[in-house]
Amino acid sequence: MDSVDVVVIGGGPAGLLAAGKAAADGASVILLEKMEKPARKLRITGKGRCNITNTKPYDEFINDIFPEPRFLRDAFNSFFSDDIIRLLNQQGVATVEERGMRVFPTSGRAWDVAEALVKWARANGVKIYNHAHVTDITSTQGVVTGVKYTDKDSNSKGVECKSIILATGGKSYAATGSTGDGYKLASSLGHTITPLLPALVGVETRPAISLKDNLLLRNVNLSLFIEGKKVDEEFGELEVTSYGFNGPIMLRLSRRIVFALSKGSRVDLELDLKPALSHEKLDARILREVDENPRIAVANLANRLLPRDLASVMIDEIGLAAQKNLGRLTTGERKSIRLWLKEQRFEVLAQRSWPEAIVTAGGVSLKEVNPKTMESKLVRGLFFAGELLDLDGSTGGYNLQIAYSTGWLAGKSAAPPIQ
Ligand SMILES: Cc1cc2nc3c(=O)[nH]c(=O)nc-3n(C[C@H](O)[C@H](O)[C@H](O)COP(=O)(O)OP(=O)(O)OC[C@H]3O[C@@H](n4cnc5c(N)ncnc54)[C@H](O)[C@@H]3O)c2cc1C
Repeated sequence: MDSVDVVVIGGGPAGLLAAGKAAADGASVILLEKMEKPARKLRITGKGRCNITNTKPYDEFINDIFPEPRFLRDAFNSFFSDDIIRLLNQQGVATVEERGMRVFPTSGRAWDVAEALVKWARANGVKIYNHAHVTDITSTQGVVTGVKYTDKDSNSKGVECKSIILATGGKSYAATGSTGDGYKLASSLGHTITPLLPALVGVETRPAISLKDNLLLRNVNLSLFIEGKKVDEEFGELEVTSYGFNGPIMLRLSRRIVFALSKGSRVDLELDLKPALSHEKLDARILREVDENPRIAVANLANRLLPRDLASVMIDEIGLAAQKNLGRLTTGERKSIRLWLKEQRFEVLAQRSWPEAIVTAGGVSLKEVNPKTMESKLVRGLFFAGELLDLDGSTGGYNLQIAYSTGWLAGKSAAPPIQ
């Protein structure tokens, strides 16, 4: 049986940073990853481009983290966005900052980020075992003693160790290996798991705008109503899908929606396709078209206001005669167009499910983890890192930074011999 100082369970960004740091600080480290290679999820982040982190200062950064961002103060103090950028640059991954202070690899390949972290961990002395599916954590009198895992040929194996860093990720996109095993392992040792919900996810609405293909809309505004009260709004890009909505602004609103739905609250979205124009200005714009082009068809007006696919949906839904001359457009029809463009309401029926969620909200309760070390308050020698914890961030590089920072701090804390 292998015997080491530290076993890291899970080879995502949290596990790789934890293992690499513990090894750099002198610990003997084995990382057990159940898939055929580490960091499968990291390789598909940011639509394959990987939004590595965000360079907002700490005080702003934490506004995009839930539910208790201040839990991360020590983790961010020990390793923040400038540290991961430096580490990757040293490993040969050049980075570039884009709109919203989001950082990407210059190559545009998430794969390069994953390979660099694996290479760095190995160079520090970490032994990585792939196809190693951890099934148990063993402990005696409240102190960890080792782990049990099965290898590629389903043989049962074990490793003895002084410390264990659990970094198995959330339970979304399970095909990447993040199947939620860590929640079971942690609760078998007495840890509380707060309710798990898919966050950063699209939603199903009634009605849904029926289009042949998904359509990306730019510069639109989406307002969120919970129990009839407006609670939030986002401006930017929205993907209209056959079931409802997805894409950047939808994802940013989704966390609140998912929690509201889980409590049985009524949730509605209001879409403003022309947020730059007030109702009056939009009406004036339509009237100008009518005055200047009384003989063109209503369909032409719709095509001037909207992408073609959406224009025909508007004509159908309002019940306009597409070929009618603009000059014959009634005041009532003009009002219907204006309301359709600025105030379409959609009831949210459900969020899309786990395989499509970018991140898991909920996880190992922060009350039972020491924020200065990431060590369990219940079991000595057990540390946590990454999405497994009850922490999640918005889109923009926050979730990966949570993984690196908690991983780094856990690795640093686990490395010295536990007294
Ligand atoms: C499509 C998509 C795009 C995303 N894009 C971004 C982005 O651009 N920027 C950003 O900040 N965040 C992004 N995220 C979120 C981010 O990828 C995750 O928050 C992050 O990967 C979490 O890191 P982790 O190390 O905690 O967990 P994971 O990356 O999930 O890694 C956990 C690892 O543990 C392994 N494992 C699980 N159970 C066991 C077991 N029993 N034994 C051994 N190994 C096990 C898994 O195989 C996996 O390799 C995206 C997520 C998705 C799904």
